[in-house]
Amino acid sequence: MKNHKYLYLGTLSFFALSFMNIHLAVLGLICMALPVYLLLKDKKKTWCQSYCPRASLYMTLGKKRAKKGKNIPLSFIKGKLKYYVLAYFFVSLSIAALSTIQVARGHMSPMLIPRFLLIIPIPVSLPQLFTLSGFPVWFTHFSFRIFSMMTTTTVIGLILSYTYKPRTWCTICPINTISDLYIMDQKGKKITPAKRTA
Ligand code: SF4
Repeated sequence: MKNHKYLYLGTLSFFALSFMNIHLAVLGLICMALPVYLLLKDKKKTWCQSYCPRASLYMTLGKKRAKKGKNIPLSFIKGKLKYYVLAYFFVSLSIAALSTIQVARGHMSPMLIPRFLLIIPIPVSLPQLFTLSGFPVWFTHFSFRIFSMMTTTTVIGLILSYTYKPRTWCTICPINTISDLYIMDQKGKKITPAKRTA
């Protein structure tokens, strides 16, 4: 990844802004939409190769452990794990969207806490340093759901980068899997799997 030096500040800014006001967590959608936009536009992994702040965070924090970490398990690269993670991503996004619709229609109470892996409440009190008035409660609910998704995947990625190689998460990241499937479909040929020592 080229020029990744300060991109990790984007990830840190996301969490800092969400701690200041949870509604800003919806900015996390940019990290989901932009890679797909660039993929469709460039027909290659432009986001992953040049702009991803999360990969930059893993590379920056994992730099010192890069040689000590174990090799990435083959099941991450060639197995079905990446498809399970992709399924989890779509289930999470669907639950976030559908529950938000239910809250907006008054059929469900808003869930105003972050959760890890959809079901485990995260015992962190977000300080909320300033208020942004005028947002409906469904938007606050949706913001918490996006924050939960971003936190879950970031924490799992950090654990993996500490255990294995810095960019282990990239081998099972939904964006990477979607990109591989799209490029494979475009070129009609097999993609070379990510290096085990990524
Ligand atoms: S695979 Fe995921 S975490 Fe890795 S660079 Fe791409 S978008 Fe970022």
